[in-house]
Amino acid sequence: MAGRNHLYIPGPTNVPNEILNAMHIPMEDHRSPVFPKLLTPLLQDLKKIFRTETGQAFIFPATGTAGWEVALTNVLNPGDKVLIYRFGQFSHLWAEMGKRLGFDVEIHQETWGKGIPLDKLEARLKEDTNHEIKAVLATHNETATGVTSDIAGVRKAMDASNHPAFLFVDGVSSIASIDFRMDEWGVDGAISGSQKGFMMPAGGAFLAFSAKALKATETSTYPRCFLDLKDQITNNASGYTPYTPALPILYGLRKALDMLLEEGLENVYARHHRLAEGTRRAVAAWGLKTCAQEGFASDTVTAVIVPEDKDARDVISTAFSKYNISLGGGLSELMGKAFRIGHVGDMNDVSMLGAIAGVEMALLDCGFAIKAGSGVAAAIEYYRSTAK
Ligand SMILES: *Cc1c(COP(=O)(O)O)cnc(C)c1O
Repeated sequence: MAGRNHLYIPGPTNVPNEILNAMHIPMEDHRSPVFPKLLTPLLQDLKKIFRTETGQAFIFPATGTAGWEVALTNVLNPGDKVLIYRFGQFSHLWAEMGKRLGFDVEIHQETWGKGIPLDKLEARLKEDTNHEIKAVLATHNETATGVTSDIAGVRKAMDASNHPAFLFVDGVSSIASIDFRMDEWGVDGAISGSQKGFMMPAGGAFLAFSAKALKATETSTYPRCFLDLKDQITNNASGYTPYTPALPILYGLRKALDMLLEEGLENVYARHHRLAEGTRRAVAAWGLKTCAQEGFASDTVTAVIVPEDKDARDVISTAFSKYNISLGGGLSELMGKAFRIGHVGDMNDVSMLGAIAGVEMALLDCGFAIKAGSGVAAAIEYYRSTAK
């Protein structure tokens, strides 16, 4: 099919040509005297994206899932109790990983469509007077439901209960696209990956840990090897890595960081908010509902619920086969009940309108009772009136 297959899924996202070109490089010796000139500034600049001055950034040749594991196994000890609120497929998977790695995972089920309940969290932490809970695992942006949780609020709840637990945040689909402030929010472990807000292929786990968390790694007795932060710390100090780095990922990251920092993080967040808001207006104009409930809507992905007599999978397959665009499916509980529109990464008003028009055509083809042009019109109106 002529033209591009546009990715309107929440990861992997469209890779800008500048980044593709930057990654197209001959291999080089990662033990050479010039390699530190590449790695050291990357680790410094990553800290700007995480918004940390006191923490330390890390790059693993891995994905976001490994980031979850790095946090759990480097900072905690075998069998430690961790607390997690589960409200979608990604918080579910992190909880399951905790169990499989032998941690005592306290899971609180929340409605899919809502995020972390701050009042309940504060009450639970206050009750834990012996401080048995060693870490709170917070999914900042639940990609399965299009829900963003209030991490500043999580920190407030932890402080209000004077609880010393570590705060680990899954920011795989929020960092570099939604407001994230590691130092200000007292985040001890921030987890991200290359293929969402960073606009790159998968293959880079980008992480940052607080001084408090890194101190705990010194005494943690959890067995680990490939994902050991200590080996990274030792080697990164002189600008090297403990094993062969994924070189194209590093060159791609150099370009991605340059692009993000040139645009300015505040502008990146504002752009994602505008793209998301236009999408939400289109969804409302179609008379459809988002999975996210009031106050929880995500600026990187919108999960759209279809009426009971419809199957969201038909919308996705029609959009792909007839219009050459990729939409996200409903995961687990939402299978067939929702489709997801990703608005994260290298996107602008016009590419977003392409997504909205493509979804609209697929909805019409699938017999949805919507008016042709209604969603596009709502989005156009919003984008025009808010364009700078
Ligand atoms: C994509 C995603 C992950 C998983 O990342 P992988 O890179 O696929 O391992 C974890 N958490 C969230 C919130 C995500 O969106």
